[in-house]
Order: sequence, then structure tokens, then C-alpha cells
Amino acid sequence: MNTYYEQAKTIPVYGEYDVVVVGGGCAGLAAAVAAGRNGAKTLIIERYPFFGGTATASLMADIVGIRNQVEPNDLQVMKGLGEELILRMLAQGGARAAVSTAYKSTERSNTKGDLSYSYAFSTECFKLVSLQMVREAGCDILFHAFFSDTIKETCPETGKETVKGVIVETKSGRYAVMGKVVIDASGDGDVAARAGAEFMDYKMAGEKSLDDCLMYKVTGFDAENVTIGSCVMGTDMVLWGPSAGWHDSTDARSLSDMEVDVRLRVAEDFEKLKAGHAELKDARISETAPLLGIRQTRFIKGEYVITGEDVLTGVVPGDSVAMAANPVIRYYGYRRFLEHNGYGIPYRSFVPEKLDGLLVAGRCISSDQIAYESWRAMSTVLCMGEAAGTAAALAVKTGVEPRAVDVKALQKQLIEQGAEIGQNK
Ligand SMILES: Cc1cc2nc3c(=O)[nH]c(=O)nc-3n(C[C@H](O)[C@H](O)[C@H](O)COP(=O)(O)OP(=O)(O)OC[C@H]3O[C@@H](n4cnc5c(N)ncnc54)[C@H](O)[C@@H]3O)c2cc1C
Repeated sequence: MNTYYEQAKTIPVYGEYDVVVVGGGCAGLAAAVAAGRNGAKTLIIERYPFFGGTATASLMADIVGIRNQVEPNDLQVMKGLGEELILRMLAQGGARAAVSTAYKSTERSNTKGDLSYSYAFSTECFKLVSLQMVREAGCDILFHAFFSDTIKETCPETGKETVKGVIVETKSGRYAVMGKVVIDASGDGDVAARAGAEFMDYKMAGEKSLDDCLMYKVTGFDAENVTIGSCVMGTDMVLWGPSAGWHDSTDARSLSDMEVDVRLRVAEDFEKLKAGHAELKDARISETAPLLGIRQTRFIKGEYVITGEDVLTGVVPGDSVAMAANPVIRYYGYRRFLEHNGYGIPYRSFVPEKLDGLLVAGRCISSDQIAYESWRAMSTVLCMGEAAGTAAALAVKTGVEPRAVDVKALQKQLIEQGAEIGQNK
């Protein structure tokens, strides 16, 4: 590829914050709300003009993993902010328990502490409630802003590198945003990768991994006799659309090619589904997701790498800050249910091995492939966000780097907020 020398230039500082969250998916929005509620001056940066990421921009309208899908399922692992989001959507008629007879998940009372395994939701209701929650927490919001670079400082004596802020591209040009702690909730680990963090990419390494696909919404189906999909909300249903295969979704050209390819194949995909499902006979596509559903890209190498064994044996580490109980999904082989009530997500998996000033949250945390196939559920991602935002606020309050946060104090605070961390009394 040819190169072009871009001249250095002086750019305005958009603001100086305690906590800067990059990405407003499930992880980022929960991180921002938690940081704001904990008194941190917080900015959340998002390229779209709404929150949710995969949940809304990719139409992935079914939060799963709120408790184990099969017995034992006594423990509701997603509480705190994620639970609040679901209860608020239920109150507005924008969510419903999505029980699966195939997998024996049963409906609960749909009240605080008694939520079911999964909930289908209206993506519009999600956008509204999440926006209300971020606003109520007092956070600043910068929509239509694309993270493009990291601001870093290197200590001349120790060589230690600290993230001090980010650069964003906007309609009005390029801005610097300064943050005492930056939370990378971009899904792809863009901030950490740009800052030079080490990461794993199992998909690109050729390991058996989850593919990307374009979701789409249909209307006009026979709602009484639906046998396909779990994301039915009133007259809308979301379907899992054409697969984009296993290309590099962090590469600009490849990502664009993937979008072109799946969008050209949606109609054909739907016709095939219609042929096999009588309830779709009169249905039509009402919307394709603005964004291809990207399941996995980079996993940042953190102080701890969560393993499949941790997941399958139900390890609750001493620094657990969230719980998860979703089955390990191996789409093209088996669905491995957990034989316990849940496992813990260690705080260390949010802390990049070498960089300071930075936490990661969401689908780019430090994990192996098998573990990811369980904790990737939006229920867990929301809980991780809450933990990361609370930790960032605590780091700022106590004047320490995120890696030096007093984990006991963090856990106490999370429990007070109503989160489940596997160590609640
Ligand atoms: C096809 C598919 C099916 C799935 N099925 C389910 C399911 O049934 N149930 C379930 O619970 N989970 C499911 N998942 C998993 C789940 O949706 C994800 O793991 C989760 O939503 C990830 O959340 P996140 O916040 O970590 O990342 P994302 O949702 O990817 O959010 C990242 C956010 O950052 C923003 N962003 C990214 N880069 C930049 C940048 N450079 N500048 C500014 N903003 C940026 C994005 O716009 C986005 O809002 C599925 C995922 C996919 C793709």
C-alpha cells in the first residue's frame, strides 16, 4: 500500500474528564452509567446516535444468560444495572421473557430477583431506556464521534505507558479528549490495540470461532405459530441472516466487503427461510440491521485470561466482579450447558497487561475462545460494564491506576449497587 505523510497539527481539547468511555454498546453504556452514578465526571463516545451497539445497531434483540438455562438455575447472575434495564423495558411493554421449550428454560415472575433466562426486547425501547439511564447518571454524551487514536504518555525512567485520553473524528473535525481513566468498550478493543496492547484474535488465528452475520427484522408473519427465532416482539421479529464467514472485521476493506456481500444476499436468505416456515408465508423484510453483527475480533491480553475450564468448572475467583451462566455456544457442534449456577468474571480480565490508565469491558476482555462463547451474552457484558465503570470511578476517587484499585472496596460497592458477584452474603 502507498503511504502519505500526514502533518502534525494542533487540535482542540473537547473536554477533560475523570472517566472517558469509548463505545456505547451494552458494556459501554453500563460503564458510563456506573461511573456517573459513582460521582465521576464521565463522557461516553459513540459513533452512532444511540446506545446498544450489537443490541440495537445489529438488531440482536434477545438478552440471554440472566441465569443458567437449565438446572441448576437458582442464581440470577445478572442483577444491578442490567436488571434495571430489563425491568424498565418490561414496564414500558418493550420486553418479554423469551422462553425456549427446546432448551427447557422456564418463565419466572419477571420481577426484581426473579428474572427468566432471556428477554426479547424492542430495539427502540432499548435505545430510549438506555439513553434515559445514561442521561440520568449525569454523563456527557458525544454521539457521531469515531475514536481514531489514543493519547499516551511514556515515563522516561520506567518506560511505563499510560493512556491519557483519546482522539475522535467528528463532523466539526478532530478533537482530543482527556481522561483520568479511559474505558475501552469499543467491542473490538480499538483503544487498547491502538495504544499498543497485546491481543489475541482467535478468528484470525484460524481457531474454531463464531462467525459474523447480518440480522434483519420482518413483519407480517403469523405470530401465533412462530417456530423460528426467539426475538419476537409484537408484530416484529428479528431473524439471524446471512453469514459473512470468518473475515477480518477490524480491517476497513474486509469489513466493507463483508457488509456488501451479506446485504446482497439478504433477500435470497429470506426466501429460503420462507420456503421452510409456513408462518413466514406473508412476511416481508421491514429493516436490515445498520451494522453487521460482529461476534468476535480482538481479545486484549489482560492480567488474567479467563479459560474454558474456569467456565465449565464454575470458578468464582477472589476478584470476581460479575457473574455469568450462559451455555458455551458451539454453533456447529454442540451447546454445552453449565452444570453449576455460574462462574465469576475476574477484575484482572479488564486490566491490560502493560498499559495504565485503561480498562477494557465487553467482548474484548481477556479470555480464551471457549470461555468467550459463554460470557459473550449481553447479560454478562452489561454486568462487566457496571463493574468497569464502578472501578474507574473508584480509581479516580482514590487516585490510583485501575490495576491498583482496592478490589475489596470495589466488590463492596458493587454489592451495594445490587450487582451479583458470586460473593454476596
Ligand atoms: C450475530 C450475533 C448474535 C448474538 N446473539 C446473542 C444472543 O442471542 N443473546 C445475547 O445475549 N448475546 C448475543 N450476542 C452477543 C452480544 O450481542 C455481544 O457479545 C454484546 O452485545 C457485545 O457488547 P459490547 O458492548 O461488548 O460490544 P458492541 O455491542 O460491539 O458495542 C461496541 C460499541 O462501540 C461502538 N464503537 C466501536 N468502535 C468505535 C469507534 N472506533 N468509535 C466510536 N464508537 C465505536 C459501536 O458502535 C458499539 O456501539 C450475539 C452477537 C452477534 C454478533
